[in-house]
Amino acid sequence: MKNNRIGLILVVSSLAVIALVVSLLLKRQHTEQLEQLRAQGLGTVRSLAVLPASVLLPPQGQPGVLASLLAMRGNLDVAYAAISGEDGRNLFEVASPGAIVPPAAPLALASFDERSVAAGQNARAIREFRGPLASQDGRLQLRIGYFEPQGPFDLKDLPFYALIALAVFLLVPLIYIVIKREMAPLAALGEQLKTLGAAQAQAQSASELDAGQDVRGLAGKLNRYLDHTSARIRELEQDSIASMASGRLLEYGSNKMQAVLQCLPDGLLVLDPAGEVTFATGKIEPLLGVPVAEVLSQPVEAWCRDPELRAMLARFRGAGQDARSQMTIEFNPLGVPGKRLWATAQALTGHSMAYGTLVVLRDATREHLARQAGNDFVAHVAHELKSPLNVIGMYGEMLADVGIDDPAVRVEAINVIQDEVERMTSLVNNLLNVSKLEMGSMRPERHRVKLDDLLRDAWQQARSRADAKNIRLDLQVARDLAAVSVDKDMFRIALNNLLNNAIKYNGAGGSVTLSAEEGDSDVVIAVRDSGIGMTPEDRERVTEKFFRVRETGEEQRGGHGLGLYLSNQIVELHHGRLTIESELGHGSVFSIHLKKMPALAEGSQVL
Ligand code: ADP
Repeated sequence: MKNNRIGLILVVSSLAVIALVVSLLLKRQHTEQLEQLRAQGLGTVRSLAVLPASVLLPPQGQPGVLASLLAMRGNLDVAYAAISGEDGRNLFEVASPGAIVPPAAPLALASFDERSVAAGQNARAIREFRGPLASQDGRLQLRIGYFEPQGPFDLKDLPFYALIALAVFLLVPLIYIVIKREMAPLAALGEQLKTLGAAQAQAQSASELDAGQDVRGLAGKLNRYLDHTSARIRELEQDSIASMASGRLLEYGSNKMQAVLQCLPDGLLVLDPAGEVTFATGKIEPLLGVPVAEVLSQPVEAWCRDPELRAMLARFRGAGQDARSQMTIEFNPLGVPGKRLWATAQALTGHSMAYGTLVVLRDATREHLARQAGNDFVAHVAHELKSPLNVIGMYGEMLADVGIDDPAVRVEAINVIQDEVERMTSLVNNLLNVSKLEMGSMRPERHRVKLDDLLRDAWQQARSRADAKNIRLDLQVARDLAAVSVDKDMFRIALNNLLNNAIKYNGAGGSVTLSAEEGDSDVVIAVRDSGIGMTPEDRERVTEKFFRVRETGEEQRGGHGLGLYLSNQIVELHHGRLTIESELGHGSVFSIHLKKMPALAEGSQVL
C-alpha cells in the first residue's frame, strides 16, 4: 500500500517537474521570438525608410515594394505595411488576409519606434514598427505591423503536449515497476532483518521495527540489526572470556586436586559402576605392585591378582550399594611380598545416583609388624620370667627339703636363686627403661661430667663380674680427659650394658679393655673384647629391639635382646653415635662417639 502511494507521488512529481521544465522552455522561446521580431521589424523599417517615396508609393494599380514585402514567402508574420501622412491618413497600405491596418499615431521627429497594437479588430495582437521616410523629411512615416508571436501555450500545440504527457504517463509506471522489481530483494531482506531484529531485541517495540519497506526503513533496520549483532558479539566475547577464565580456573582446581590426591601417602582407586578403573594415583604401584597404566580403564579381573581385594570389589560392583556402606580388609598383596595392606572400599553415591566405588589402599606393614612384635614380646617376656621362676621354685623346694643338710648345696641353691632374681630384675629394669624411652618420658638431664671419673666407676663395678669369669678387665683412660655433657645415670646404663656384654660374650682367660680417646671435636669411648664376635649380618641388627644372635655353642648365656637397643637409644639421645666392629671368633669393639663440650662451657659446674 505504501509502495503504491509512493508510486503515485513519483508519477505526480515527475509530471510536475516535466510541466515546469516545458513551460520554462516555452517561455524562453517566446522571449527569444519577441527579440527576434523586434530586431527584424526595426531593421526592416530602417532599411525601407531610406528608399525614395516613389519606390515605396507605387503608382495606382502596381504592387510596390511593400506589397512585395508582404508577399514574400516566410514572412507570414507580417500583418500589414503602410505609409501614413502627418494627418494620420494612410497614403498606401497593404495587409495580410484578416488583418486591418490601424490608424497611425503621431511620430516623434526622426525617431524609429515600436508600439503594441491591441488586438481589437485583428484576431491577434500586432507589434508595429515605424519610422520617418528619409526622402520626405519625416512628413511621411513607414509603418510595418507584425503579428506578435503566439503565447507559450498555444492550443495548436495541444496534440504535441498531449503526446509528451502520454509518453510520461507510460514511462513513469514502467520505471516504477522496474524500480519496484529491483527493490523486491531489498524488501525481502528488510523482512528478514525485521524477523531477526524482533528475535534479537524483544525489548524493542514492534512498531519501531515496522519502520517501512522503503530503502530508508531498510537501512534503519540494517543499522539496528548491525547494532544488535555487534552488541551480541560483544556479549558473546565477554561470555567467551568469562567461560575461558572459569575453564582455566576449573582446570587449575582439577590439577590442584589431582596433585593433592597424588601426594597422599595412601593409594587411591576410583571405579565406575561397571567396575572399570577411572582414576588411580601413582602410590598403588609400590602398594599393589601394579603400574597405574595397567590399571586405568581396565576391569578388576585384568589387573587384580589378590583374591581378597577382588572379592571386595565384586561386592561393590553395580548400582544399589548403600551410600554409607564401607568395607575394610587386610591382606598381603601378591605383587609385593612382605607387605601388608588395608583396603577400604566406599560406595560413591549422591543425588540418588551411583558414581562407582572409591578404594583407599594403606600400607599396614608397620602396624602389622608392631602387632606381631607386641604378641612376640608378651610371649617372650612370659618365657623369660617363667624360666627363672621355675629355677627359683625348684631351688626353693630344695632348700625347704629338710633332708638336705649339706651346706655347700644350700649355698649353691641360694646363689642360683640370687642369679635368677638378678636376671629378672635386669629384665624388668630394661623393660621399664625401654618403655620410658618409647613413651618419651626418659629425657636426659645433661650436665658437665668428668669422663674419666664416670668410666673409672663403670670399670670398678664390672670388675667383680669379670673376675668371676676369669677375664682380665683393663682401663686405659687419661686423667685429663675432656668433660662431656651427659645424663650421668642414663649414660651409666649404656656403659654397663656394653661392659656386661663384653664379659658375657667372652671366654675364660679372655680380656676386656675400656678406653677413651680425645679427638679434635669429639671423644671416643671404646669397649674392646676378645670374645666370640659376630657375623656382619648380625652386627647390622644387634641394636634392634629384642634381637639376639642364635646361640650355637654349649654355653647358653641367656639374655633379652634389649641391652644394645637401650645403649644405642641412650647414645642417640645424647646426640652421639654407637659404632660396632666385630669379627666372628675374634672379638668386638663397641665405640661411643660423643661431642666434646664447647670451650666456653668448660668452666660450668662439674658433677
Ligand atoms: P642380650 O640380652 O641378648 O645380651 P643385647 O641387646 O645386649 O641382648 O645383645 C644383643 C645380641 O648381640 C646378643 O644376643 C649377642 O648375640 C650380641 N652381642 C652383644 N654384645 C656382644 C659382644 N660383645 N660380643 C659378641 N656378641 C655380642
